[in-house]
Amino acid sequence: MSFASDVRGELARQSVTDACCARSELTAALLCAGGIAWRGRDRYAVTITAGEAPTVRRYFGMLKQFYGIIGQIRTLSGDALNNQTRYQLAVPEAETARLLAALDLLDKRALFGVRSVPAEETVRFACCKKAFARVAFLMCGAVNHPDRGYHIEIAAPTEALAYYIGDQLKYFGLNVKNTCRKSKFVVYLKRAEDISDMLSLLGASSAMLAFENVRVKKEVSNRVNRQLNCDSSNINRAVSAAEAQIRAIRYIDAELGLDKLPKPLREMAFARANNPEMPLAELGEQLEPVLGKSGVSARLRRLTDIADKLRSGEEIKL
Ligand SMILES: [Zn+2]
Repeated sequence: MSFASDVRGELARQSVTDACCARSELTAALLCAGGIAWRGRDRYAVTITAGEAPTVRRYFGMLKQFYGIIGQIRTLSGDALNNQTRYQLAVPEAETARLLAALDLLDKRALFGVRSVPAEETVRFACCKKAFARVAFLMCGAVNHPDRGYHIEIAAPTEALAYYIGDQLKYFGLNVKNTCRKSKFVVYLKRAEDISDMLSLLGASSAMLAFENVRVKKEVSNRVNRQLNCDSSNINRAVSAAEAQIRAIRYIDAELGLDKLPKPLREMAFARANNPEMPLAELGEQLEPVLGKSGVSARLRRLTDIADKLRSGEEIKL
C-alpha cells in the first residue's frame, strides 16, 4: 500500500451528513473524474470511475441517500498497458439529466451543455469547499511518501478546473502553484509544512501524523548529520593547525636548535611535538606551571612565527 492510497483510503471513509457538502462532493467527483459523456440531444452518460472500490461505494451511498438514485457498480479489468482493476459507478440513463440539473452542471452556453467548473452557488460554504478539495484529491490526487521527497498534487483534466481547485485550496491559505504536464493541469505544493496542512485540511489526519513522524525524524537526522560534518571539519582544521606547528618546531630544531629557544617556548615545542593531536587546553596542562588555552595558542603562534622568519631569512629576536 502506498502512502497516497493510505490517504485516499482515509478520505473515502470521511462521513458526509450535510446535503450541501454531498452536492459539492458529487459535483467534484463528476468533474474531476471526467465522467460526463454527451450522448446527443440532452442525453448524457454519467459515471464515476476510481482505482479503489471504497471510493466508488462512497458515491453509490451518496447518490442513494441524497438523490434517491440507485447506481450500478461494475469492475473494469485492466488492459495490456495498465493491468489494474478499476471500479465504476454508472448512473442509470433515465436519471442522468435530473442529477446533472440538481448539481447545476447543465449550461446551454457550455461545450456539450455541461459546465467545466461548478456553478457559483454549488460550492458555497467552507464545508463545501473542503469537501470539493477532498474529492478532487480522491479522484486525481497524488502525494509522495515523505521519504521520497515532498510533493502533493491534484492533476485536473481541464485548465479551468485546475484553477478552480487551486482557488478552493487558496481559500484555506494553501498557496498552491499551477503547472501543466502531459495534458493534465496540475496544482501542487512542495513544502513539507504545506503538505501537512493540506492533508489535515482534506481530513486525512492519520496520514498527516504519519507524514509528520517521518518528517521530524528526517529533520533530526539531517541536523545531527550537519552537526557531525561541522564537528569533523573543526577537527580537521585543528589537526592541520597542529601539523603546521609540528613542521615549524622541526624546522626550528633543524635550523636553529630547540635549545636556543627561551625556556617557555622550548617546553611548549616539546609538549606539542610529543602530543601532536592534543587539544590546546590539555596541552597547557602538560606545562609547568599550567598554562591556559590562550597562552598555549600564543606560544604556538610564536613558534610558527619564528619558523616563518627562519625560512625567509629575517632576523629573529628571542
Ligand atoms: Zn457544505
